[in-house]
Amino acid sequence: MANFMMDKYIVPAFIVSLLGFVVIYILRPRTPPNNYKKKDPKSAEKCETHNVIKGVCKSGKGRSDTDVIIVGAGVAGAALAHTLGKEGRKVHVIERDLTEPDRIVGELLQPGGYLKLIELGLEDCVEDIDAQRVVGYALFKDGKSTNVSYPLENFHSDVAGRSFHNGRFIQKMREKAVTLPNVRLEQGTVTSLIEENGSIKGVQYKTKAGQELAHAPLTVVCDGCFSNLRRSLCDPKVDSPSCFVGLVLELENGQLPYPNHGHVILADPSPILFYPISSTEIRCLVDVPGQKLPSLANGDMANYLKTVVAPQVPPELRDAFLYAIDKGHIKTMPNRSMPAAPYPTPGALLLGDSFNMRHPLTGGGMTVALSDIAVLRNLLMPLQDLNDADELCKNLESFYTLRKPVASTINTLAGALYKVFCASPDQARREMREACFDYLSLGGTCSTGPIALLSGLNPNPLSLVLHFFAVAIYGVGRLLVPFPSPKKLWIGARLISSASGIIFPIIKAEGIRQMFFQQHYQHITEALPRTLSQIKQKIC
Ligand SMILES: Cc1cc2nc3c(=O)[nH]c(=O)nc-3n(C[C@H](O)[C@H](O)[C@H](O)COP(=O)(O)OP(=O)(O)OC[C@H]3O[C@@H](n4cnc5c(N)ncnc54)[C@H](O)[C@@H]3O)c2cc1C
Repeated sequence: MANFMMDKYIVPAFIVSLLGFVVIYILRPRTPPNNYKKKDPKSAEKCETHNVIKGVCKSGKGRSDTDVIIVGAGVAGAALAHTLGKEGRKVHVIERDLTEPDRIVGELLQPGGYLKLIELGLEDCVEDIDAQRVVGYALFKDGKSTNVSYPLENFHSDVAGRSFHNGRFIQKMREKAVTLPNVRLEQGTVTSLIEENGSIKGVQYKTKAGQELAHAPLTVVCDGCFSNLRRSLCDPKVDSPSCFVGLVLELENGQLPYPNHGHVILADPSPILFYPISSTEIRCLVDVPGQKLPSLANGDMANYLKTVVAPQVPPELRDAFLYAIDKGHIKTMPNRSMPAAPYPTPGALLLGDSFNMRHPLTGGGMTVALSDIAVLRNLLMPLQDLNDADELCKNLESFYTLRKPVASTINTLAGALYKVFCASPDQARREMREACFDYLSLGGTCSTGPIALLSGLNPNPLSLVLHFFAVAIYGVGRLLVPFPSPKKLWIGARLISSASGIIFPIIKAEGIRQMFFQQHYQHITEALPRTLSQIKQKIC
């Protein structure tokens, strides 16, 4: 009888189980598709072995054992990886291409940026790459020249600008980051951010092996100026006023007219830059306004460089310039600017060019990125556990305002100076350009003030506005002395109006309140370390 009962129920039980299985399968929580790999078990192993984050190894359900995912190991990503790794964070960096980059970007680090490099403990990354010391700028206009030195007197003798091959610098930072056992650097292309209930929980990325997922309480997106990921994290208003055309000059004596100086030629239609990138090579960047460049393929570019640009190059550099054109290897890059306009998002942050860009004329991008990293490190420092989402959000809230004085000063100066340095048919603008050259040639505060702003040694927004209008007023004075006339008065009035038209829209885009009315600003500048020992003390 019992056997009969069992036989009677066996078929319906089987059908019910099958149906139940189908229902459970359909209603199952969505897990990654099969081609997404599970997290590398080795990383959990590493966590145990290396005792990361002040002894805490997170492996609970729904919690990742990675603290921070960094997308991109360029200047910002590589520096951040080392910085947070050194703090004990478990860092997973995903970089599209781990081979040495060969680019015309990020080759001159201003002294303010070098100070940040020291503050982050990365100063050895400019050693053994044939980096050159840069101690100031030389300006050329209509056959005249002047030079302005960085105000470095009150700093340790090691502090100066550095210029180098960007790829060598980045490789050094990547190598240094992976010396830390809690930093994992992987080649892969991040395709999207993982979002859950408005928070970013990690990334999806592609490697040779296929699609992968990585989770962490904080994802920092550092995927550079062509970022594909920033759209959901900020309002990207990208402006491309011009392009840089890059060549490498090999000088017989390896020396520029002003050795160890960046050279800016106030040419027509726009500036030309020269600076050393090794003991034997000089980088030349020719600014070409607009987004459409003469064709490289059909020789229009070479022709443009020879006929329009070469005659304006200082005679000492002209032969090497012409030789470099004939040799080829001309590279181009769009010059982009984009004010920072974040949508603060729990679990994610943008950093570097994906977050904020300025015209590269003043070589400020790396300084801003390194300064932002120092701000971020300090904000994260008090947090033991980044998995506490509320605490993390609270600590990151002030990132966007604390970074402002430094970033905005460098951004505003770059945008304003580019406009002033471009040739213009407008006489008021021509007078402003002439006044700027003469003002910087005056010496004293007139040259140290602006160069301190440009170098990142005194990123003070008020000083920037004062010097900018001092140039404009100086320009009006030059016009009116010795004999004012109604026409000159009119040009002077237009000069002031055009100067306002240049600077105020940039300041507005940067955010007037955060730029000028920050109580923290005082602490930031006062806290700028001046000597190596002070810097080392600060780090400790
Ligand atoms: C022509 C030019 C000249 C410049 N010169 C100077 C200068 O002299 N001094 C200066 O301070 N600044 C300069 N800058 C600015 C400076 O180069 C940038 O500010 C700096 O490189 C920004 O660093 P980053 O890490 O944000 O971007 P990058 O250094 O460009 O790094 C981005 C990284 O992200 C990786 N990546 C991109 N997408 C993905 C993805 N989906 N998944 C994984 N990885 C990804 C890239 O491979 C790259 O390694 C210049 C800029 C230009 C355009």
